[in-house]
Amino acid sequence: MTQKHVKVKNHINGEWLDESNGHYVPLCNPSTGAVIGEVPISSADTARQAVAAAAVAFPAWSATPLPKRMNYLFALHQAMKDNLEDLAQSIAVDQAKHISEARGEVGRVIEIVQMACSIPALIQGETLQGIASNINGRVIKAPLGVFCGVAPFNFPALVFGWFIPFAIGTGNTFVYKPSTESPLFMQKMMAILVDIGLPKGVVNVIHGEKETVEGWYDDPNVAGVCLVGSSPTARAIAEGCGRHGKKTMLLGGAKNFLLAMEDAPMDLLIENVIASGYGSAGQRCLAVSNIAVVPEIHDEFVERLIDAARAVKVGDAMNPDVFMGPVISAKARDRISNYIEIGVDEGANLVLDGRNPAMPKANADGFFVAPTVFTGVTPDMRIAKEEIFGPVLSVLKVGCINTGLATLNAHELGNGACIFTQNAYYIEKFIAEANVGMVGVNVGICAPHPYLPFGGIKGSLVGNNKVQGKDGVDFFTQNKVATIRTVDPAGQVPTAGVANGAVRSCVAS
Ligand code: NAD
Repeated sequence: MTQKHVKVKNHINGEWLDESNGHYVPLCNPSTGAVIGEVPISSADTARQAVAAAAVAFPAWSATPLPKRMNYLFALHQAMKDNLEDLAQSIAVDQAKHISEARGEVGRVIEIVQMACSIPALIQGETLQGIASNINGRVIKAPLGVFCGVAPFNFPALVFGWFIPFAIGTGNTFVYKPSTESPLFMQKMMAILVDIGLPKGVVNVIHGEKETVEGWYDDPNVAGVCLVGSSPTARAIAEGCGRHGKKTMLLGGAKNFLLAMEDAPMDLLIENVIASGYGSAGQRCLAVSNIAVVPEIHDEFVERLIDAARAVKVGDAMNPDVFMGPVISAKARDRISNYIEIGVDEGANLVLDGRNPAMPKANADGFFVAPTVFTGVTPDMRIAKEEIFGPVLSVLKVGCINTGLATLNAHELGNGACIFTQNAYYIEKFIAEANVGMVGVNVGICAPHPYLPFGGIKGSLVGNNKVQGKDGVDFFTQNKVATIRTVDPAGQVPTAGVANGAVRSCVAS
């Protein structure tokens, strides 16, 4: 399929716009290496214009009755279902996520929107009656204004789902910056938001990089910034926002461990390691990277893993017969290849080398790395410590559950960790002691359902706000507290409780 050249546009205050600074970068299809379009690198001024539009839209949007705001989310939910294939294809083209996984990602966002439709139940405030005579306290979950969001390349749809339905459902307006490496989903999604009649300025989209985001830090109209990206980017945004007192929700990078115990169900383990480590070419924040295996099953596991990894079909992300597409860019391919070299230099055994796989002619210029396996990896090696973000698995030998836990807990990142075992003691110990934000038991990807919070700890989360579930609602609202004294018009002062007082004065008159 030949892809038409796309000039990606910003969408500000209801209008599709070219970037006035004329600065554009090429957009590639990683499966073929072909340039398929161009993406603006918007200036900080454009970033602020988008915020100004969102600020103008805020008063009317936040005053829109809640059921009416929810109607937009219901319409969004239906429109995403109707356009699922088109949305998935956009991800399979520019991010080169395999089409079946791209469908899965859009499907997950539909579930997230469904969850966001329960905002009216989650946004209810609290009242404390009778703080003093005639005085009550009320907590209102109020919107804050304009939020800005920054997305990574690897989940263009999911991160839209984590930010926008929650932000606008709670009454805020939004400016969203997708990754310049995967902007096409948001072009389609913004068109859907226009189609469902969302008022102009409620959601705005601008494309760009670091300099675009930096335009928001000192903008008084920005209430907060959220990011899903690498840990250095999370820290940079925390610093910029911290200087100006902005609220932040910043999910960072990952280096996920899987601990395989002696009683691990081997078929299930292999199937899940392959899906987790090589799905999306290892470019998932919950992808397993380090596999800690106890001696009893180490050799059998390695043998089975190599066989299964060799059998993984690599190819064009649009080809339903392959399992794994390319990585995002030539730069990413070179970085991953460099890590493979580093592993060899550090003394790990490269038992399966995925560099430079033979590809059919149409994909010869694509950015491919095939499944790679290292054994004999130790925790001090760079390949065990640093985020490779590609299809490279490191197998470490650990003596028992205690050394397995100590190894993963010593890592500076703490996104997710999984255990494979049938032993209830191991399961409970792992859940209690693994120092990560998300734990999995006999699953390869421990992604929580949209009704539950998603996020890591330690270096994987800057600050303490997680996405989705009730946490998503909390981040986009403030607990505004009203202290209310009522005065009896008849001049009588009730002893406690407004309602009682009102009734008494009525009865008295
Ligand atoms: P990245 O950090 O390079 O970029 C993420 C976004 O931040 C992009 O939109 C980019 O334009 C912008 N950006 C980059 N540098 C910036 C800076 N200094 N200031 C402001 N904005 C900046 O990440 P990526 O390569 O696009 O995505 C992969 C990373 O995201 C991995 O580290 C992965 O673990 C992480 N990730 C984490 C989660 C999670 O749930 N914790 C989910 C998905 C991806």
